[in-house]
Amino acid sequence: MKKREPPYVVRPPTAVLTRGFDPRLSVGSARPAVFRSSTYVFTSPDSAARAFEVALGRARPAPGENVDLIYARLSHPNAEILEDQVVPLEREAQAAAVFNSGMAAISTTFLTFCGPGQTVIYTTPVYGGTRHFLRALMEPWGLRTIAVPAGDTLALERAVESAKDLRIVLVETPANPTLVMTDLRAAVEAARRRPDSPLVVVDNTFLGPTFQHPLELGADLVVYSATKYLAGFSDVLAGVVLARDPELVTSLRGTRAVLGNILQPDESWLLQSRLPTVTLRMNRQSKNAQRIAELITKHPAVTRVLYPSLFTDHEQARIRDAQCDFPGAMMSIELAGGRPAAFTFLRSLRIVRNAVSLGGMESLACHPRTTTHSELPVEELDRAGIGEGLVRISVGTEDWRDLLRDIRDALDAA
Ligand SMILES: *Cc1c(COP(=O)(O)O)cnc(C)c1O
Repeated sequence: MKKREPPYVVRPPTAVLTRGFDPRLSVGSARPAVFRSSTYVFTSPDSAARAFEVALGRARPAPGENVDLIYARLSHPNAEILEDQVVPLEREAQAAAVFNSGMAAISTTFLTFCGPGQTVIYTTPVYGGTRHFLRALMEPWGLRTIAVPAGDTLALERAVESAKDLRIVLVETPANPTLVMTDLRAAVEAARRRPDSPLVVVDNTFLGPTFQHPLELGADLVVYSATKYLAGFSDVLAGVVLARDPELVTSLRGTRAVLGNILQPDESWLLQSRLPTVTLRMNRQSKNAQRIAELITKHPAVTRVLYPSLFTDHEQARIRDAQCDFPGAMMSIELAGGRPAAFTFLRSLRIVRNAVSLGGMESLACHPRTTTHSELPVEELDRAGIGEGLVRISVGTEDWRDLLRDIRDALDAA
């Protein structure tokens, strides 16, 4: 049955509600049904054989061909609908693969595109799970890793130029929790100067898909912890990888089928229902954060507010203006009184909750040095500016005046 889709190209907020879903395949239901089956009944033994040929990469589906589903570890209708609908949110993306967490998306990307004896470059500070995966799991299997400080364009260019058998350049920008930005275009250009064309992979969790568009700047893959802004309610774990080149996504799906880390049907359905509001939520959250960040810089308990609209470094401001549409909803506050002040601040908050994670409707705050980043050696923490007095805040969709009052009261207490 052919899907009824508009004969013209629609814009992303429309596509996210119309692409990839045909109500007739869900008995007319306006929202997709949840297909929990682990296995699918073939149309015929011939179509079963055809489905395996396509799944194992021995044949490609013809345009418009309906290939039978096989088994839910390979794919299922809810993952397919979600993958179709998330694509228009990421500028220039042509295909997506969904995973059962952000870490599943990131680890599957590395396991698919690099191996023993090859090299990976990553910006630091990087997400703790990513660092652990690369250093504690991949290095013992023979992968070489090179860490480059976030925002150091020259160091990144040099590392990309000189690395042996470089397969992946992973850029996480802005960095967590310091919000330091790395020049995406410079990373892409450095990678393109190499004849062995390493992949530029961007962890776009903090600003994407609304405010930062790495594929447009030439990156090959964009990865997400969809647990954060894409899902938006702190109630589902999920990951997404998007690419301009569908072949890259096909390779990822092949690894995913073996690892068994596809996003499950219920979670796919949940995440899919959140996509049409990502832009609305992120815009509101960014506006809230910007108002608050700019109004607390002068508070006597605060030494620094780390937030993109407050950058004073020229190079950082240049990168921000070149690759970000809005400053986003993540900020870090450095308190003059060190750890005791940071802990008193966290204990004094009444609306903002003390929890890790980010991107949800509700505002959350944490102390990175003793929680999310506690695996880092002290020298690395100090070098990255993750001090004893640093508190990270994920600003939600509450009324910004209530949040400002809550944060000011807690600062007064600190
Ligand atoms: C949370 C997060 C991850 C990991 O995602 P999970 O969904 O928790 O597995 C990766 N990168 C960044 C930047 C994150 O914030």
